Amino acid sequence: MKVLLIFAHPESRSLNGALRDVAIKELEAQGHEVRVSDLYADGWKSEVDRADFPTLAPDARLIPVAASKKSFEADALTKDVKAEIEKLLWADTLILQFPLWWFSMPAILKGWVDRVFAYGFAYGVGEHSDQRWGDRYGEGTLAGKRAMLIVTAGGWEEHYATRGVNGAIDDLLFPINHGILYYPGYDVLPPFVAYSVDRLDETGFAPIAARLRERMRTLATTPPIPYRRQNGGDYLIPSMQLRPELADPGATGFGLHLNGTGASG
Ligand code: FAD
Repeated sequence: MKVLLIFAHPESRSLNGALRDVAIKELEAQGHEVRVSDLYADGWKSEVDRADFPTLAPDARLIPVAASKKSFEADALTKDVKAEIEKLLWADTLILQFPLWWFSMPAILKGWVDRVFAYGFAYGVGEHSDQRWGDRYGEGTLAGKRAMLIVTAGGWEEHYATRGVNGAIDDLLFPINHGILYYPGYDVLPPFVAYSVDRLDETGFAPIAARLRERMRTLATTPPIPYRRQNGGDYLIPSMQLRPELADPGATGFGLHLNGTGASG
């Protein structure tokens, strides 16, 4: 397999850095090819602005969606963004690795998504009509590839359980897993999450590393989270509402978009 790991931590000597090395070593031992984008080390520019669209006239109003579409179509995106798109097309598996910061990803990684997931590449793909609402949620440019998150969290696992005060981890990660990865077509594997990591020592590190190695060994065979496909018949078109017969009328929440039950590993 060809694996692309996007690493979003400012310090290579961090726990995240150590886990990244564990993951790479195991993947290479399994014969996989690995490429890494180290966002902080590479000085990744995280904000979308005019500089992203060199062909936009200086006096033209910047409309990010339109500028993204036009630049992608004209192959006029910036060199750094084009390099990341080329890596995404090369890889059959994408890993996003980050510490949980304010219940989400660090800004630099969000900025990587904002800039690299261009219109025509990751969204705005396929026919949009009353019969079809694009190729997304299980279809799209990146369909057939796998993706997963490696996340470290200071909080306790119990605090992220279904009834935990922080909210369930699968809910907190839903916007990333479903909204960012499943949207352009990836099969999304259950996330690897390491909890209570802030006071970790060697004794605590060993079982986390062992669990991560196991996830790297089973990257090709782990069943993806069973999200419903947008164009698989479960949603009405064009309202994009889940068909009423597929869930209790009073049911709410992200779980509606699962065919079965999702789980963290
Ligand atoms: P590090 O700080 O590098 O290390 C953590 C511990 O692991 C240290 O004790 C270190 O000595 C040890 N360690 C590192 N490498 C090794 C090794 N090779 N072997 C053995 N031990 C090692 N947490 C939440 O749960 N929810 C949040 O919303 C949240 N928001 C945050 C927002 C911000 C801005 C920040 C800074 C932190 C937040 N946290 C939150 C905590 C955060 O998730 C953790 O600090 C982070 O996941 C720890 O990962 P790290 O790589 O930075 O660890």
